[in-house]
Amino acid sequence: MHVLIVGGGLGGLSLAQCLRKQGISFEVFERDANSQSRPQGWAIAIHSIIDQLAEAFPSDMPDLKEATNHLAPLKLPAQIGLYFPNREGRLGVQDSPELPIVRSERRRLRDWLSTNIPIQWNKRVSKIQSDDDGVTVFFEDGTSAKGDILVGADGIKSVVRENLTQRTSDEMLKLVPIAAIVGELDLSGEAFKRQLALGHSAYIFVSPDLGFWNFGGLHHVHPDGVSGRHYWMYMEPDPNVAEPNHWLQTATREEKLNYVLKKVSKMPPKFREIFESTPASGIKEEPHIWRDLELESLPAGRVILVGDAAHAMTPFRGEGGYHTFIDCLELSRILGKIDSTDIAAVKEAVAGYNAEMLERGVEAVRNSRGEQGDRKAQDRKSKVVSAMQEAKPLPESEIVLEAMA
Ligand SMILES: Cc1cc2nc3c(=O)[nH]c(=O)nc-3n(C[C@H](O)[C@H](O)[C@H](O)COP(=O)(O)OP(=O)(O)OC[C@H]3O[C@@H](n4cnc5c(N)ncnc54)[C@H](O)[C@@H]3O)c2cc1C
Repeated sequence: MHVLIVGGGLGGLSLAQCLRKQGISFEVFERDANSQSRPQGWAIAIHSIIDQLAEAFPSDMPDLKEATNHLAPLKLPAQIGLYFPNREGRLGVQDSPELPIVRSERRRLRDWLSTNIPIQWNKRVSKIQSDDDGVTVFFEDGTSAKGDILVGADGIKSVVRENLTQRTSDEMLKLVPIAAIVGELDLSGEAFKRQLALGHSAYIFVSPDLGFWNFGGLHHVHPDGVSGRHYWMYMEPDPNVAEPNHWLQTATREEKLNYVLKKVSKMPPKFREIFESTPASGIKEEPHIWRDLELESLPAGRVILVGDAAHAMTPFRGEGGYHTFIDCLELSRILGKIDSTDIAAVKEAVAGYNAEMLERGVEAVRNSRGEQGDRKAQDRKSKVVSAMQEAKPLPESEIVLEAMA
């Protein structure tokens, strides 16, 4: 059996590692020009399935935490703080031996997932043809490749999904009515310590009275050990965010920053600091519009989807990557067992995979969309979940930094 994997992101590379472990032949095609050509995002929490990944991946992979931990060289555990002003104290989740969480820096994670995987760069898929005998993928550079199975791991705007369902992404993706403004900045010394104290890895501040919520995150610690790169995402409900004449479509960086500074002026000072320390040059220029995807069914055959291609969701619960890993673990188990020349067996196995994956995916998409903070914050008794764990009261802790030699 030969498996064609479209997309060298989290899903495509995870699947490739599972197939490499099982000695199944595969190729990975990625549209990026090379591993450095595009920012990979900030950081992602990996949890719940760390042991399963270690088991399914080959033994030559370096240790996940050592290779990707965004808090290195600091010794602090990964930690996400959750602040709801009308609840007492802060809630949160934290890496522990019982419930490990690794917060991985995205570029390091992609490099880790690429271990001993030959990625074919500059291969942007344009079309797919499949029948009972096999599948052919065509690239924009005029080349093509043939295989027995094709896996679309090409993210939220999946061309593979468009080919498989004969529906465009514009038709299928659903707008999440939230306006977001994103900022990035470096912090050092005492200011860096104060941000880490709010949540070593990230924190969420939800304030329905003020009409917005914020996700503040550490991208990574700088090698000096006393400074780090941070980001924040200011969000507020806005059903018109995708309108072509929405003010965020044309707003300058200064206008966005001024808007945020005005809105956050009533926040407690320790939560305002990250906004007030951001230079206008740190504000993301392009508008940020969230969309997600609920797929009820998919045809079962030689073309299969994993990850955001099948169930793109908002990141508010930090589950998109988790479900992508689960897809790859499940699918690789199935691919390890089927006879790819027996099309009836392929269809039956893929139908089983699709049913489980879509049900799990739709539930996660819905949960993640509902997780906009205000509902949770108003209901003091409701359970708050982050990184698939119930958030618990998180004691304050002092941050001590040591400059690296
Ligand atoms: C801001 C943010 C924060 C997040 N935080 C978390 C978190 O904390 N925890 C968590 O579990 N999840 C998180 N997620 C979700 C997680 O990032 C995604 O669910 C995950 O990356 C999906 O993996 P994927 O492989 O399906 O897609 P992607 O990671 O998007 O990879 C798709 C790949 O396909 C390539 N590609 C696209 N089109 C083509 C084409 N036509 N031809 C060839 N290649 C193509 C792309 O270049 C890309 O490399 C977050 C997402 C965002 C946006």
